[in-house]
Amino acid sequence: MDKIVKVNNMSFEYITDESAHKAIDELSLEVEKGEFVVIIGHNGSGKSTLSKNLNAILLPSEGSILIDDLDTREEKNLWEIRQTAGMVFQNPDNQIVATVVEEDVAFGPENLGVEPKEIRKRVEEALKSVGMYELKDRQPHLLSGGQKQRVAIAGIIAMKPKCIIFDEATAMLDPSGRKEVMKTIKRLNKEENITTIHITHFMEEAVEADRVIVLEKGKKVLEGTPREVFKKIDMLKNIGLDVPCMTELSGMLIKSGLEISSDILTVDEMVMELCRL
Ligand code: ADP
Ligand code: MG
Repeated sequence: MDKIVKVNNMSFEYITDESAHKAIDELSLEVEKGEFVVIIGHNGSGKSTLSKNLNAILLPSEGSILIDDLDTREEKNLWEIRQTAGMVFQNPDNQIVATVVEEDVAFGPENLGVEPKEIRKRVEEALKSVGMYELKDRQPHLLSGGQKQRVAIAGIIAMKPKCIIFDEATAMLDPSGRKEVMKTIKRLNKEENITTIHITHFMEEAVEADRVIVLEKGKKVLEGTPREVFKKIDMLKNIGLDVPCMTELSGMLIKSGLEISSDILTVDEMVMELCRL
């Protein structure tokens, strides 16, 4: 399979005058083209440091990262890497630069030197693909959090990335905004085949991933399908993480003597299991 992201034995150290802090510690991982990978981990486990390294905002202290076979440490690759792997951050307000929605989405391709006719086409497509085309003339600051985040996503899509890294892009949204944005992220992955790396602390969002990677103190401590990872309830709890509600409930029911499966992830699966009894 084609790997769009290759992290090879990579470490990253923050160095200040007084101290050095290793935020990523000899990490290796790969992401396949078209894959939907979720990364979870406690605060300070190195998720944002990793995502900034994937986009060459930070460069590895040791080891290497290849994005679509381009080494992030080579300066000549910078533009292509930033175009290949777009990033969406937590706070939509920090990502919106223009006073009209469609101008904001045009900003990225304008900076890439795309010709005006093509920009108009890309802006229209990008806004349609996040369901914001009808609001193209609005002022971004009057939109809801979920809508603003979708505009930010459209701004990235207009640059035609192969891969998007979402660094807790749903964290500041209310439940309905979070749902809107997750639906958009999933659609882009499934229908437009954009490789997705989604960092989140909402376990329910991790349930739908192809693969979940768990970081702890800059190291990968668990990796697998959601079912494989969330089965390890005790280990996840030990490092301060939750499991999806239904997984938690199944654990409790098993402890109290019910004979049900230990790897239930969703309400539907729970209903099926209980009806089977
Ligand atoms: P996460 O996104 O998982 O919460 P981060 O990647 O932001 O984790 O941080 C990983 C570790 O690196 C933390 O211990 C954090 O305090 C430290 N760190 C993050 N940014 C800096 C920085 N600019 N300077 C020094 N240390 C930092
Ligand atoms: Mg972070």
